[in-house]
Amino acid sequence: MAEPTPMMRQFLEIKERCKDCILFFRLGDFYEMFFEDAEIASRELELVLTGKDCGLAERAPMCGVPYHAALSYIGRLVSKGHKVAVCEQMEDPALAKGIVKRDIVRIYTPGTVTDEQMLSQKRNNFIAAIFEFRNMYGISAADITTGEMYLTSLTVGSTYNHLANEIARFTPSEIIINAQAQSVHKIKNFASTLGNSYVATLSEDLFDYENGKSHINDIRLNGDAKTSYQQLIKDELAVRACGALISYMEDTQKMHLSNQITATHYKVDEYMAIDAASRRNLEITETLRDKNKKGSLLWVLDKTVTSMGARTLKKWLEQPLIDVDAINDRLDSVAELKDAFILRSELRELLSGVYDMERIAGKITLGTCNARDLVSLRQSAAKLPYIKETLSGCNAPLLKTLCQETDGLEDIWELLDKAIADDPPVLLKEGGLIKKGYNQEVDECREASVNGKTWLTELEAKEREETGIKNLKISFNKVFGYYIEVTKSYLHLVPPHYVRKQTLVNNERYITDELKKMEDTILGAEERLTRLEFEVFCQVREYVLAQADRLRRTASAIARLDALASYAETADRENYCRPDILSGDATEISIKDGRHPVVEKMNASGDFVPNDVLLDCNDNLLLVITGPNMAGKSTYMRQVALMILMAQAGSFVPASEAKMSIVDKLFTRVGASDDLASGQSTFMVEMSEVANILSNATPKSFLILDEIGRGTSTFDGLSIAWSVLEYIAHTLKSRAMFATHYHELTELEGTVPGVKNYCVDVKKKGDDIVFLRKMKRGGADGSYGISVAALAGIPKVVTLRAKEILQQLEEQEDKNSSRKSRAKSKSVQHAESTENQLDLLSFTANSVMQDEIISELKGLDVQSLTPIEALNILYRLHQKAEKRI
Ligand code: ADP
Repeated sequence: MAEPTPMMRQFLEIKERCKDCILFFRLGDFYEMFFEDAEIASRELELVLTGKDCGLAERAPMCGVPYHAALSYIGRLVSKGHKVAVCEQMEDPALAKGIVKRDIVRIYTPGTVTDEQMLSQKRNNFIAAIFEFRNMYGISAADITTGEMYLTSLTVGSTYNHLANEIARFTPSEIIINAQAQSVHKIKNFASTLGNSYVATLSEDLFDYENGKSHINDIRLNGDAKTSYQQLIKDELAVRACGALISYMEDTQKMHLSNQITATHYKVDEYMAIDAASRRNLEITETLRDKNKKGSLLWVLDKTVTSMGARTLKKWLEQPLIDVDAINDRLDSVAELKDAFILRSELRELLSGVYDMERIAGKITLGTCNARDLVSLRQSAAKLPYIKETLSGCNAPLLKTLCQETDGLEDIWELLDKAIADDPPVLLKEGGLIKKGYNQEVDECREASVNGKTWLTELEAKEREETGIKNLKISFNKVFGYYIEVTKSYLHLVPPHYVRKQTLVNNERYITDELKKMEDTILGAEERLTRLEFEVFCQVREYVLAQADRLRRTASAIARLDALASYAETADRENYCRPDILSGDATEISIKDGRHPVVEKMNASGDFVPNDVLLDCNDNLLLVITGPNMAGKSTYMRQVALMILMAQAGSFVPASEAKMSIVDKLFTRVGASDDLASGQSTFMVEMSEVANILSNATPKSFLILDEIGRGTSTFDGLSIAWSVLEYIAHTLKSRAMFATHYHELTELEGTVPGVKNYCVDVKKKGDDIVFLRKMKRGGADGSYGISVAALAGIPKVVTLRAKEILQQLEEQEDKNSSRKSRAKSKSVQHAESTENQLDLLSFTANSVMQDEIISELKGLDVQSLTPIEALNILYRLHQKAEKRI
C-alpha cells in the first residue's frame, strides 16, 4: 500500500485539526494547498492547479501562493465565506533535524479577521454566538478589533423570530451556534439575508457553563463590576454563549483574549425592538435594493470625522434607547453643540486629527501593532488635551462626563514623541523605528553603520587611485556581501591581492581582506541596530500595552463625542428640531412640519412638502391613509417611523416641532420583497411579517402597514386588511398608520374607536392629476389609478380603454347595490355582534384547548423533568390558557 511521505503525513495530521478550513501549509517561500483545499483555492483565486508526488497512489492536487503575498489571497477567500488556517514552519529549516516542525499559528474567519485590508473602517465587524436550549437563547456578539462584547439572553417564551431580531441588531459577519440547536437551518437562511454571514456549528462542549464562567472571571464588565458580575453569572444562557465565543476567538488568534474584552450585559428591552424585516424596510444603514449607504438614514446623519465615531453612530441608530433620561442626555449635548457653532467647528477639526484609537488599542493588545500605528497614536494623543480644553466649558452633563473620560494621555504622547521615528517603515525588523537621542545604544550602533558607509566610499576612492581603474565600484548583494566590481576593459590593472569571486559578461567581481573586515563591522552594526531597534520598540509597545485600558476608555469617549457632534452638525445644516421626549404614560406623538430625512435630501428640486402628524392611544390611535399611488403615502409613514427612531437614538428630527412619547417596538410592513433565500412567496412573506407584528406589538408599539393584502385577490385582501386593522384597534391598541387602496376601510372611522382617516391631497386638471403631497383629514375620493398610469407613460389607447372598463364595472356595481353600503352594514353588524362571535369562537376554542392541555399534561414524565424544563412547560400551558381567554 502507498505510504505518504513524511511531509504529507505531517500535512494530513495538521489538516485533521482544521477540517473546516483551507490549510495554507508553509513550504519554504510558499504556502501550498493540497487536495480539496487546492481545488477550492485554485477556483476561487484563479491559481494554477498542479500536482505533487507525495507517496500516495495518485499525485496530490496542489496550488500555492508566495508567502509575502498571502494576506491578500487569504482576504479574498475569507470574503467569499471560507475559513483559512495558516500553518508555519516553527523552526529554522537549516537547523531542523528531520522534518521541519510545523503548526497552525492563526485561523482567519470572516468574524475574527483583524487585518486592516480585510475590514471596513466605518463599521464594526461583529461575530455572534448563539446558545440555544429549547426555545431559550444565550447571545453574545463581539468585535475582536475593538475588544467590545455584548451579552444577553432570551428566556422562556422566546421564539426564533426574537432571536433573529436580536442578531440583526449586530449584522454579524459570522455566527457560531451549538450543533444541537433546532434553529441551525433557519439561522443559515437568515444569515444569507445579512449579506452572507458565515455560520459555523460547534460542539456542545464549547458552550459549557464552567468554560463560560472561567472566561467571565477575566473580562471587564461595564457598570458596577461586582453587581454586573453577579447578574451575569446568573444568566446561564448568556454565560454559555460568551464562553463559546471567547474560546472560538482564542482558537483563531491562538492567544489568550478574555482579559482584553470589555463586555456589556444587557436586557433586550433596554433598547427599542426593531425586527429584522423592519430594519431592512426602513433603510436605516443601507438601502433595501442596492445595499448602499447612500440613500439610507445613516447616510444623511453621518457627519462623523473619525472611524470610531462612525461606528458608534451606526450602533446608536441600530439600537435606539427606551430610557427617557438617557435619550435626553444625548439631546442636551446635541442642543448645546448645535447652538455653539464655533466650539463645534473647533471640536470637529480637532477630532478629525484623531486616528482609530479603538482599533490601535486592539492591535496593541493582539500584538499586531507596528511603528506606524504608534505614530498615529501619538498624533491622536497630541489632540486630546485640546479636545478636553474645548469641552471644559460645556454644560450638558454627558459632555462633561465625556470630557472627564477623555484622558489627555500626555505620558504616552511624550514617550512616543521621543522614541518613535516620524516616518517609520511598516515592517518591524528592518530598522528605522527609533528616533535619534532616545536610546544611547541605538545611536551608537547607527553611527557605526553610517560610518561604515563613509569608510566604503573612502575605500572605493583609495582603490581607484591605487589601481588606476577609473570606474571601479564597491557594491553589495546578499550572496557575496560587499565586492569590488571591475569592467572587462580594466582587468589588466587588477592587483594580485584581489580575490576573484564571480565573472559576469561585462565585468568581474573581487573581494579583498580589507573589504571583508569592513563588511563584518558594517553588517554587524546594521544587524545589531535592527535587532536593538526592535527591542526598544517592543519596550515602548509594552508600556502602551499596560495603558490599553486608558486608551480604550478615551477612544470610547471620543467616539461618542464625534457621534454627538455629528448629530449637531446635521441638525444645524438640515434645520432639524429637538424632539420633546414625553415620559410616564404619555402616548402622544405629534409632529409639526415633519419631513422625510432621506427623501428631502434625494429630492434635487428641494421642494419637499412637510406634513404634520398626531397619534396617541385614544382618538388618534390608527390613521387610515388613502390616496392614489405615488401620492406620498409610504414616504409620510416612513418619515414618522424614522423620526421616532431618530429621536430615541438621541438625534434631532426633521420637523419644526415634535413631541414624542416612547415607543418600545417599531414594526413596519412595507413594500413587497420576495424572500428568495427561504423560498417564500411575496404574499407568504407579507403575511408572516404581519403575523410577527400581531403577536408581538404592545400598546407602546408603533406600526406602519403599507397596503397589506395587496398580494392576494381583492376580497381576500380587503378582508385581511380589515380584520388586521380591527385587531390592532381593539386588541393590540398600538399606535399605527395604515396606508391602503381599499377605500372601504375609510368606513371604519366612527365605527372602530381611534380610527382617523387621512388622505393625500391631489388636484385634478382635466384628466390629469397633480400631486400636492399634503395630508388632509378624510378619505380619498377616487383611486386615480388610470391617471397615474397615464402619467407613467402607458399608451393612450390603453388608458382610454381602461376608463371604459372602469365605467362598466362601476355601473355593474351600482346595480348590485353599492359595495360601500354593504361594507358599512358589515362593519356595524360586526360592532354589534362582536361579543356573540367571540363567545362562539371561544366556546369552540375552549374545548379544543382543554383537550390539548389535558393531553399534554398526561404525556409528561414528571419524575425526569428538570426544573427549567418544568418551568418552560408551565409557561407554555399558561400562554395557551391565556389565549383561550
Ligand atoms: P405612495 O406610497 O403614495 O405610492 P410614495 O410615498 O412612494 O407614494 O411617494 C412617491 C414619490 O413622491 C416619492 O418617491 C417622492 O419622491 C415623492 N414624495 C413623496 N412625499 C413627498 C413630499 N412630502 N414632498 C415631495 N415629494 C414627495
